[in-house]
Amino acid sequence: MADVSIPLAMKQPDAKPCQLHPQSMCPAFGSLRVLTRIEGSHPVMATDTGCLYGLTFVTHFYGARKSILAPQLGTAELMAGEIVEGTRAAIEVAAREPGCQLIPVVSLCVAETAGLPEEMLPKRVGEAEVVLVRVPAYAIHSHPEAKDVALAALLRRLADAQSERQKKRLLLLGEVFPADPLAIDNLLRRMGVEQTITLPGRAIADLRLARSVGALAPLHPFYKETAALFRSWDIPVVGGAPVGVSGTYAWLKAVGALLDLNAKLVDEVVEEERERAQAVLQAQPLHGRILVTGYEGTELAYARLLVEAGAEVPYVSTSIAQDPLVLPDELWLRARGTQEVVYRKSLEEDVAALDKYEPDMVLGTTPFCSVAKERGIPAMYFTNQLASRPFFLSGGLAATLGFMNQTMGRSARYQWIQSFFDETEVADASA
Ligand code: SF4
Repeated sequence: MADVSIPLAMKQPDAKPCQLHPQSMCPAFGSLRVLTRIEGSHPVMATDTGCLYGLTFVTHFYGARKSILAPQLGTAELMAGEIVEGTRAAIEVAAREPGCQLIPVVSLCVAETAGLPEEMLPKRVGEAEVVLVRVPAYAIHSHPEAKDVALAALLRRLADAQSERQKKRLLLLGEVFPADPLAIDNLLRRMGVEQTITLPGRAIADLRLARSVGALAPLHPFYKETAALFRSWDIPVVGGAPVGVSGTYAWLKAVGALLDLNAKLVDEVVEEERERAQAVLQAQPLHGRILVTGYEGTELAYARLLVEAGAEVPYVSTSIAQDPLVLPDELWLRARGTQEVVYRKSLEEDVAALDKYEPDMVLGTTPFCSVAKERGIPAMYFTNQLASRPFFLSGGLAATLGFMNQTMGRSARYQWIQSFFDETEVADASA
C-alpha cells in the first residue's frame, strides 16, 4: 500500500518548528563557482529556462567573465524529449569558443528528472574534454556539497594516473581567502614540503597533477566525495585544518608525519607557530556567548577558534551533513561545553537557539543575521565578512579575532539601531 503519511511539520505544527522555507541556495551555485573559474572551461548547463534566468546571473556574480551556454528547454522541448539533442548542440557551440579545453555539462533538477544518459554525450569535442556533473537539488542538499561533486567529477576524468608520486608535495583543498594558501605554503616549505597545489583553482594543469601528491589536506570539511577519490588512489588525507592553536598544531604534525618530513625540523617550525598563535590569543581574548550558524561546515572550525580565545559557544549549526572530516571538531567542542551541534540545520532551528541562548554575538547566514540584528545583537555574515579575510594559521587567527572583538565592542551601537527602528515604527503607527 502506498505511503500516504502526512509530513511531520504539517501534521503537528506545534511539535516542531516549520521547516518549509528554502534553507540553502540552489546547488548549481556551488558547482558553477568551481567550474566557471577554470581557464579554458566553458560550462554548458542542462536545465529548464526558469533555472537558467537565475543561474546566468551567478556566472557574472563570480566574475568569471563568461556566460553559460544552455539549450532552450521549455515545456515543448521537455515534452518532446529534446534534452540530449539540445545539450549536444550546446556542447558543439562551447567547443568553438577560443581556447576551449574543458566543457563541464552541469545537469540540474529537470534534466536529471527527465534523464540525461552520459553515454549519449561526447567525451571529447576537438581539443575539449566533456565532463558530466550531476547536481540536482533533490540529491545534493547544499551548494558547498555541489562544489565537491563538481571537483570529484573533474578529477575522475582529468587527474593523470601516470603522473609520478612526489612524496613531499601537498594538495590543499578548498576555496579560501587568497592570502591563506600563500601563508600555508610559506610555513610548510620551512618544514620541508617541496610544493603545494590548491584546488579548486583556475588551472587545468593542477587537476592533471592531482594524483602526484603525497597527501591531500581538505581545508573545508565538505569535500567528502573528493577525499574518497584520493583514498581510492592510495593518497592519505590529512584531518582537521590549521585553525587556532590546537587545530594548527595537530594539522602541522599530521602533515609532517604523512609526508615523512624531518621530525626535528617539523617540531621547530610547529613550536614557533604555536608560540605565535598563543601570543595572538593572549593579546586578543574574547569574552561573551556566541552562536555560530552557517552553510559550509567551516562553522565548527570557527567555533573551535572562538572557544580557544575564551568565548562560550553553546550552539553550532551547518547545512552540510555529518561527516568523519568534521567529527574531531565536534568532539573537541562538545568536550568544552558546546551543547548542540546541528547538521542539515534549518533557519527555524537557528532562531530557536537565539531564543534559548540569548547570545552576545552571532556569526551566521544572511537571514539569521537579520533576525539577530532586529534584536540588537551584533551579527557577522559568513560569506561577506568572514570569508573575505584570512582564517588559517596565526595570521588568520589575529585577523579573525581582531574583527570579532571590534564587532562585539559595537554592541551598544546595534542596540541603539534597534531602538531607533522600534521608535520609528511606533511613530509611524501613531501618525
Ligand atoms: S529547479 Fe533545481 S536547478 Fe533549478 S533553480 Fe531550483 S534548485 Fe536550482
